[in-house]
Order: sequence, then structure tokens, then C-alpha cells
Amino acid sequence: MKHNTNLDADLIIIGGGVAGTALACALKDSGLNIIMIEAQSLENVTKKKLAYALSLLSGAIFKGIGVWDQIFPNVGKFEHIRLSDADHGNIIHFEKEDLNTQFLGYVGEHQYVLKPLQELSQKCKNITWFPSSKLIDIIEEKDSITVTIERENQTQKLTAKLLVGADGAKSKVRQWAKIETKGWKYWQSCVAFKIKHTAPVNNIAFERFWYNGPMGILPLPDHCCQIVWTNPHEESKNLVEMPEKDFLERLKIRTGGVLGDLTLVGERGLFPVQLMQSDRYIQSRLALVGDAAHGCHPVGGQGLNLGIRDIAALAQVLQDAIARGEDIGTISVLKRYQNWRKKENWLILGFTDFLDRIFSTDFLPVVLIRRFGLWLMKNLPPFKLFALKLMTGLKGQRPNLAKVI
Ligand SMILES: Cc1cc2nc3c(=O)[nH]c(=O)nc-3n(C[C@H](O)[C@H](O)[C@H](O)COP(=O)(O)OP(=O)(O)OC[C@H]3O[C@@H](n4cnc5c(N)ncnc54)[C@H](O)[C@@H]3O)c2cc1C
Repeated sequence: MKHNTNLDADLIIIGGGVAGTALACALKDSGLNIIMIEAQSLENVTKKKLAYALSLLSGAIFKGIGVWDQIFPNVGKFEHIRLSDADHGNIIHFEKEDLNTQFLGYVGEHQYVLKPLQELSQKCKNITWFPSSKLIDIIEEKDSITVTIERENQTQKLTAKLLVGADGAKSKVRQWAKIETKGWKYWQSCVAFKIKHTAPVNNIAFERFWYNGPMGILPLPDHCCQIVWTNPHEESKNLVEMPEKDFLERLKIRTGGVLGDLTLVGERGLFPVQLMQSDRYIQSRLALVGDAAHGCHPVGGQGLNLGIRDIAALAQVLQDAIARGEDIGTISVLKRYQNWRKKENWLILGFTDFLDRIFSTDFLPVVLIRRFGLWLMKNLPPFKLFALKLMTGLKGQRPNLAKVI
């Protein structure tokens, strides 16, 4: 194996998913030289079959980055949210009028979110991609951090002032830094899939809580929806393995036939669910963003939205540090990012956990408490508004990057 000459940058980002690529794009005018290291080819990274509920804040951040005009035409938009407790008649209606906004959120398929970010990053002279690269080693020095990668049968050492781990839930960067995590695995898995339906959904997103777990129905363009159906592990596995016809029959019963005739588009994905928070997001010369730093139950569609907020916050902290002439890899700079994001993420992690636990049971005292909670939400507008603002990203510190859409 040959050794190439060293290649220096200001910032190395490991992981070219949505969080990592969005961070590079958010820093396109910062003057920083950025290296992106991704394990897969750029084409393969876009192939993940998942669609995300994107919050109003995420849309605003993408606008600030300069990719929203490319993303917007391909996303589903919803103006209403219906939240209900199994078959109980007390349905909570969230409306765009509650926030005085045009929409309450968006639903974007992975490829339509990531591709515009990839394209923008490839146009930026200060961003260099190293796709299909294997991370071999990381060595922290006093004023820099060096990453060794293997690519096309060659090893290469890359040195920068700061390394960002955007490499997802099983982050090697987090493991290398020996950053411990807190959290738990749920007794549930999600089955996520796209369907085509004949009945109109009228720009409504549904979150319906059943005793086995919640079901989210998110509208996509062209009479399609993304459905995330949570059940105990064994039941979810059965749902994925059963013949398509039986699966659609079960789905039709579960959704009460409101979607009309259903056709499965693509495959059913099975995702075990966990809650995870890293003990710290930073150390000298290193920061974690997105799923590398935290993970939550998909109920409420928050995971990626938290990652997008992370990168907007980190980009702002780094740009402020550059303006002050500070070294971007120092703990004093990176602490500003951690102080901003860790507490805010705890709030959402806790909220999604609370939602899943309080609804995924038919234990009568809990059922009565939650029905009282739903009654409060329906009848006390400030309570409802608080929940809506929390889920749409309008609570917490707004990053400068977020622009009015
Ligand atoms: C069923 C389900 C439904 C969901 N629904 C929603 C939703 O509606 N809304 C929402 O906001 N979130 C949702 N989420 C959460 C969301 O999917 C994640 O939070 C998001 O994908 C994380 O993005 P990321 O960029 O941080 O990590 P990832 O998407 O995991 O990207 C990490 C990248 O790093 C690369 N990588 C990994 N290791 C290395 C390495 N060693 N070297 C180089 N590269 C590496 C990977 O190839 C990948 O490209 C859902 C999750 C699930 C499971």
C-alpha cells in the first residue's frame, strides 16, 4: 500500500448523510477548507429508502443554506395534524392557523433532501469529497487532529483543526473518542414504508397512538404517504415478512380504510428503536452532530430535525469563533455548541419517550391520565400551542442560518 502526501484542511467531517453534508454546505462561505469523508459512494448514500417529517425550522435552515428551493418542489406539505388515542373519539386538531404559517411541516424523501445538498457541496471550492473511504485511525495532537483513511487501496492521512463526527448512530468517531452514551432500546421496532393510496389525505399528517405503538402517516406528493408503524419487535418482524397482500389488508384495517385502495411502493424497512444521548458532544478538536450525538423514537418525526438544528448551531458557533480570531478546535469554542444543543435535545428526547410510553399501554390509570392530558390539550390553547411549537422546532434558540420561507 502506498502512502500519499499529507493533505491539510480546517475541518474534516466524517459522514456524508444529511447532517454532515448540510454542515459542510452551511459553512460554504466561512472561509474554512472542508474535507468530507464518506464510507459509501455518493450515489449509494442517496439510496436510503426513508422519508422524514421535516419541521418548519428545518425548512428555514435549508433556506438559509440555499437548498430549499430545490427541496421544496419534491416534498409533501401538511397544513393539519390529527393526533388521536386509538379508537377514542377525542382527536386533537392542530391547524396552520394555530401558528399563522402556510404549513405545519413537510415530508421529504431521503434522496430529495440529500441530493440538493450534495450538488451544492460539489460546487463549493472549499469542500473536497473523499467518498468510498474507510476510516482507519484518528490521532489527536495539540493543535490539530489527524485522520487516516483507506481509499482505492491507498492509505491517506488528513490533518485539520477540527473533526466532526456526523457518522450516524453507530459512530466510529464517538467510539474512538470514548464518549459514553445514556439511553435504552425500546421493546418496539418500526416498519417504515411508502404507499400509494386512492383516497385524498387533504394535506393532513396523522399520528395515531395504539397500545402496541404509534402509527404516523405522512403525506408525500402524487397520492403517496410515508407510514411509520410501530409495534413490539416480533409483531413488526411478522409485518415485514408477511405476504404483501396480507400486509396491505392489515394496514387497511389499521387505518380504518380512510386511505382507500393501497399499493406498496418499494420495500418495507424494519428499524429497531432506541433512545440515546451522548454524555458529551465535544472534546478537544472534536464534535458530534446528528445521530452520532443522539437518537430518539421516531414518534413525532424528530431525529433528523434535531441533527439539522445541531449543524446550524455548530456552523454559527464556528463562524463566530472565526470572526473573533479563535481556534475552532478548542474546548472553549466547542462548549458553546454543546451548551446550546445538548439541553434542547434532551427536551425533545424526553418528550418523544414520554409520548411513546404514555400511549403504548392499556393500563387503565395511565389511559385515564393520558385522556385527561388530551382533554387539556384540546381545551387549553396555551398547552396545545406549546406542544405544537415544540414539535415544529419553534421552541428553543433559533440559529441565524434559519431564514423566513
Ligand atoms: C423508521 C424511522 C423513521 C424516521 N422518521 C423521521 C422523521 O420523520 N423525521 C426526522 O426528523 N427523523 C426521522 N428519523 C430519524 C432520522 O432517520 C435520523 O435522525 C437521520 O437519518 C440521521 O441523519 P445523520 O446524517 O445524522 O446520520 P445518517 O443518516 O446515519 O448518516 C451517517 C452517514 O455517515 C456515513 N458513515 C458511517 N460510518 C462512517 C465511517 N466510519 N466513515 C465514513 N462515513 C461513515 C454513513 O454511510 C452515512 O452516510 C426516522 C428514523 C427511523 C428509523
